Amino acid sequence: MIKGTAASDGIGIGKILLLEEASLEYTPHSVEDPAAEVERFRNAVNELIAETERDAAALRAAAGEKEALIMEGHISLINDPALKGETENLITGGQCAEAAYEAMCDMFISIFSSMEDEMMRQRAADVRDIKSGLLRILLGRRQVRVDDAPKGTVLLTRELTPSVTAGIKKGNIVGIITETGGKTSHSAILARALEIPAVLSVPNALSVLRDGQPVIVDGTAGAVIPDPSFDELNEYTEKRERFLKERAELERFRGKPTVGADGAEYELVCNIGKPDDAAKVMEFDGEGVGLFRTEFLFMDRTSVPTEEEQFEAYRKAALILKGKPLIIRTLDIGGDKEIPYMGLEREDNPFMGFRAIRYCLKNRDLFKTQLRAILRASAFGDIRIMFPLITCVEELREGRAVVEELKKELSILGVPFNKDIKVGIMVETAAAAMLADVLAAESDFFSIGTNDLTGYTMSCDRGNANVAYLYSALQPAVLRMIERTIKCGRAAGIPVGMCGEAAANPKLIPLLMAFGLTEFSVSAPSVLRVRKCISRWTRDEAERAAQKALSMTTVKEVEEYLSGLVR
Ligand code: PEP
Ligand code: MG
Repeated sequence: MIKGTAASDGIGIGKILLLEEASLEYTPHSVEDPAAEVERFRNAVNELIAETERDAAALRAAAGEKEALIMEGHISLINDPALKGETENLITGGQCAEAAYEAMCDMFISIFSSMEDEMMRQRAADVRDIKSGLLRILLGRRQVRVDDAPKGTVLLTRELTPSVTAGIKKGNIVGIITETGGKTSHSAILARALEIPAVLSVPNALSVLRDGQPVIVDGTAGAVIPDPSFDELNEYTEKRERFLKERAELERFRGKPTVGADGAEYELVCNIGKPDDAAKVMEFDGEGVGLFRTEFLFMDRTSVPTEEEQFEAYRKAALILKGKPLIIRTLDIGGDKEIPYMGLEREDNPFMGFRAIRYCLKNRDLFKTQLRAILRASAFGDIRIMFPLITCVEELREGRAVVEELKKELSILGVPFNKDIKVGIMVETAAAAMLADVLAAESDFFSIGTNDLTGYTMSCDRGNANVAYLYSALQPAVLRMIERTIKCGRAAGIPVGMCGEAAANPKLIPLLMAFGLTEFSVSAPSVLRVRKCISRWTRDEAERAAQKALSMTTVKEVEEYLSGLVR
């Protein structure tokens, strides 16, 4: 078995087709008639555009509009005035079209590759793709096509370019293996859109695998099994059947409301870390965002994002969500979330220390900048504010007072914002759970953060292997905290959600339904699975399960009991 990056779910079983790249070698030379060479270059550009338009149409038919846009992006790159203009200048200076275009593309590739932003690095791969396309046309080489690949083909290639992907016929290609490329590359996105299992970045794939070799591609686990044994073939054939059955079953839940077996309604939203993730929420059929972890906007950079940068980020997410709810959590740094340039002092007990809301209340300017950006963005969608790590009512009051002060300021300045913006808290400390009745009276909503609540309740750091056995949201102590929080919230008439990982745990879901949770916030790819799980339970059945689970005294008993009930 060879490991790689799991890029597109599912199991593919077939024979390898090695996609040999056309040789693009040439000897750079100077030209005597630059005007004719410019003409040759322009003809090649037109041919590449025509080819790419054909690919876009093929992708539109096979995968959808959004995927076709990737090829449209290629066309804008090919047409880029700087790239074309500078290439023509080099040709006019006497270089051949191949050398001129290659030099310009390489310059763009090196600029894009050095950028931190993943999207920009992706642009480098796109420029590499169009460079090969244009050189191929200039050199009169044949394009590698996969149109005629027979049924049961597993593609093996160095890097799956969108132009190759465009030729894929869905029924014939059962798997994809590449030597380079990551999970967020365009080729990975396209493989997922075409629902073809893919394992990318398999080390030395081109030398250890060979054309015609039988192979299994496990796109879920990120594994490639060359020359599978009879037993392996049986095992993976079964796995594939199971996967396809489950996928078809889950698809039935797309576009449907989230309801229990008795018709009771729930909200099923997602956790995100970047504005662009909001697109994933829409793609996976989430009903909004239950947690935007804004600390990610502060990471991977060297200074605090400005109010304008933050405003744009929040507004972008709100616009993508088209009116669906967007809960933005204010900065949650400290603990395990370090942001080097913010100069947090080293502490003996960072999890118990100067973090999250505690840090923000003491660093007012930073806090106000963020809240002002959120308030301004609230004119563009259903934005709500959430404070992390609340442990006492004073923190909530102080946070709310800052929001009120900023609302006044913005009103005086005539800046639009939602005057009725909801302000809620994360219940993720034992203190907040015990004080849930008091906090519920002054909070517009709760969201239970089981990741921290489990750690704080069990006094256990999940990263510490010696005590990790204690870390479970099914621990009787944690279950009681969760039950109490939800019941207090419901008694006060406020919505109670959960945005910790436990919200997607099929063992816990019936208990959460029984306690009265109104909103589940999970990772986007879990949406359909959680919707299906919720649909399997009535409130009455869930209540019986919850009563029994709460009567148990050890996590082992609870685990075993709830494992037997998973539907
Ligand atoms: C949590 O603690 O459960 C939570 C959702 O917050 P984070 O994982 O960002 O700490
Ligand atoms: Mg937390």
